[in-house]
Amino acid sequence: MNVKMIFKPKRVILAIILLILFILVIILLYNIKKNTHTSSILSKTLALKGIVISQENLDKLKGKKLVALTYDDGPNKKYTPELLDILKEEDSKATFFILGSNAEASPEILQRIVAEGHQIGNHSYDHKQFVALSSDKIQFEINKTNNILKEITGVTPNMIRTPYGEVTDKIKTIVNMPIILWDIDTLDWQTTSANKVYNSIMSKVQDGDIILMHDTFPACVQATKMTIEKLKSEGYVFVTVETLILAKQGKIENTVYRYAR
Ligand SMILES: [Zn+2]
Repeated sequence: MNVKMIFKPKRVILAIILLILFILVIILLYNIKKNTHTSSILSKTLALKGIVISQENLDKLKGKKLVALTYDDGPNKKYTPELLDILKEEDSKATFFILGSNAEASPEILQRIVAEGHQIGNHSYDHKQFVALSSDKIQFEINKTNNILKEITGVTPNMIRTPYGEVTDKIKTIVNMPIILWDIDTLDWQTTSANKVYNSIMSKVQDGDIILMHDTFPACVQATKMTIEKLKSEGYVFVTVETLILAKQGKIENTVYRYAR
């Protein structure tokens, strides 16, 4: 009886120590998991804000064939939501070069574009030819549009596509951000045939391409669906321009891009 009385408290103390250690390990494991989760949410938030795309996400794209679909002149009340539905169904990201005047007319569509993880870029306020404007007026067009987009979405665009893709040394100096042109022009504004737009892409497409369409014309919607379905089956991934450049070149420079390989 006495012997048992001596050993029992030791066992109890040992059991308590083991229990405490067990609880500590559980707390530690829980915190590691929580931190990983928090940092992945943070990366995602930053990517949506158009600021940073996590290295982890870029690493996943290594060695993959990438294409950036870009849509100019919107948002459009009819075609942009249809397009967003398709991009969502296909789990694909795109880039929208927005006119400030159309953003003011459809702020809720612009918010949806950003909320669904697409990139927005500046495409001037009302599509004036920059070559015909004074430096002050070009600057005004850019700032006004950036302010409108920031006001509506919280995101300040960090890339521009100048109206008509006009680029001169003067324009480059004034815009002072990467100018995104394209290497496939689908001429989707000239036709109502989605097949024609689709064929113009399929005849030229290669890894790293930036493709120009307009979400203000009907052909872009079905052409986008057909293009994504076909190219996905060939292993392509559809990413924003920002992700494309970072994945292919590791950094974004203040220069003119037509593709990124
Ligand atoms: Zn345009």
